[in-house]
Amino acid sequence: MEKFSLSIDGKNIEVKEGTSVLEAAQKLGIDVPNLCFEPCLSLSGSCRICVVEDDNSGRMLASCAMPAMQGMVIKTESPRVLEARRFIIELMLASHDLDCFNCEKNGDCRLQDYAYRYKVDKSPFWGEKREFSIDEENPFYLRDYNKCIYCGKCVRVCHEVQGAGAIDYSHRGFYSQISSPYEVPIQDSSCVFCGMCIELCPVGALMPKHQIFAGRPWEVKNFDTVCPYCGVGCNLTLKVKDNNIADVHVPDREPNNGEICVKGKFGWDFISHNERLKKPLIKKNGHFQESSWEEALETIANRFSDIKKTHGSDALAGLSSAKCTNEENYLFQKFFRSVLGTHNIDHCARL
Ligand code: SF4
Ligand code: SF4
Ligand code: SF4
Repeated sequence: MEKFSLSIDGKNIEVKEGTSVLEAAQKLGIDVPNLCFEPCLSLSGSCRICVVEDDNSGRMLASCAMPAMQGMVIKTESPRVLEARRFIIELMLASHDLDCFNCEKNGDCRLQDYAYRYKVDKSPFWGEKREFSIDEENPFYLRDYNKCIYCGKCVRVCHEVQGAGAIDYSHRGFYSQISSPYEVPIQDSSCVFCGMCIELCPVGALMPKHQIFAGRPWEVKNFDTVCPYCGVGCNLTLKVKDNNIADVHVPDREPNNGEICVKGKFGWDFISHNERLKKPLIKKNGHFQESSWEEALETIANRFSDIKKTHGSDALAGLSSAKCTNEENYLFQKFFRSVLGTHNIDHCARL
């Protein structure tokens, strides 16, 4: 495969044919802003904020969509580039509901970050604006297209990664919008509520309901963990404030590489549910009563011994849990096979 040498902001780099200018810049540690680009998705090149200038040709290029070529002399923050980026942000803000104060994305918003970085505090453009009512009918997330910048990431991830095809662009030009087929409520579409669109949305247009007033991005602590629901064991990062989970982020690591399903993204309210068992219960006189762990374990040991003595080992059976670790499940089956002497052991891996 051919290799090309080029210079970006005065640093030389050699890249393989097919590498974009944006990727080459990222390899050099140069932070080129981008909103519609996502490595796992097809190219869109629609937001244009990744514009750079090639000193050789004098051309302004969308760096995500432009392959690096031999001899390019790229400037990522030249005066022309900065002016173009400011103009692009001003256009985006022209029809954006600038409600940063109340927006849950405040502090974690790429549009807000870039507006600050390029010193844009308002849009000089005025005229008719689109107004959308906020969709809060589905059980999991708010859809506020007054904040949408039409990067199309939600559409691409829904089609290309999740394969649900629940949303797409509808209408044209000024009237374009993201919607479900025939604008049916999202809960009546083919949406499986994986939340991947929320994960990739760079602004506050898509917001998990559980995140509302749960904590600002700078107030939460991140805890890496593994989803307890099934054997895939997806990586998750819990965002926790005051011992409550404010949100779940999906890191780009094996085995799920940034992908998730509805259970991992939204199904963790059981953790602080007031009916969650925190102590063992023993049925006494027909009613469950709280007990100590010592009493519970002794009761189990005595009952196991009695059953084994009276009816043999195969009168016992164990059902293990997908919410335990591999190591715990291994020990559980080992205990049943080696200590109790039965192979009656199964696992509820398909919760
Ligand atoms: S999406 Fe970003 S820019 Fe828009 S209101 Fe929310 S924080 Fe502000
Ligand atoms: S939640 Fe998943 S399935 Fe539903 S629209 Fe978003 S990406 Fe598509
Ligand atoms: S909803 Fe978010 S991800 Fe989808 S097009 Fe709008 S800004 Fe982009």
